[in-house]
Formats: sequence, C-alpha cells, structure tokens
Amino acid sequence: MSKLIRERFVKTRKSHECCCCGVIFPSETEMYVQTGIDDGILNAYICEPCREIIYFYSEKFVKDENQYPELCIKKYIEENFQGKITPQELLKNFENGIWESKDENNKL
Ligand SMILES: [Zn+2]
Repeated sequence: MSKLIRERFVKTRKSHECCCCGVIFPSETEMYVQTGIDDGILNAYICEPCREIIYFYSEKFVKDENQYPELCIKKYIEENFQGKITPQELLKNFENGIWESKDENNKL
C-alpha cells in the first residue's frame, strides 16, 4: 500500500513511460509526477492527456483515493475502443459523452 507524498509537473531529463497509457515519452517532455512511499520511493509519470482524463473522469478509473491501476487508460482504450485511439482522442470522446466505440462491427 503506497502513500502519495508529492505531485508536481516536471520537464523530464530522460524518457519515461506514462503509467496510465503505456506510451513512452522522450526527454524534455512536460509530465506529471506522483511520488509515493512504499518500501522505497516510487515515481509515477503521467502524460498530460492521461492526467486530464484521470482528473476529470476519475470515477471511471480510481480504485482507492489517488490510486489508479497500472496502465488503466491503455486498458480502457483496449476494452472500449479496441485499442484504436490515443489518450488525446479518448479525452475528446469523454468530453463529448462517448464512453465506448459506436462501431458495432468491432464489438467483442
Ligand atoms: Zn498517458
């Protein structure tokens, strides 16, 4: 059980994988970092679209307070949009009230 101790924006010095969508971002990218304490100190890097998604639509992803399952947005896109859209597009869809793909041909 990790405890959140700090949240901030950084410009990254090396590449980091977003812990929500799994995309690897190069260095010099603005990312949001959540620092938690578990056995040691853990940093979770989150890209800007994912941060907005979990901020505005946390009820779709949150498990415990401030705790999101790893790769929660990647999994959501795979389950509801067949993995075909980006986090940016997912955010746009949510803003338009679209929670899953309307394309019936791609339904599981
Ligand atoms: Zn992301």
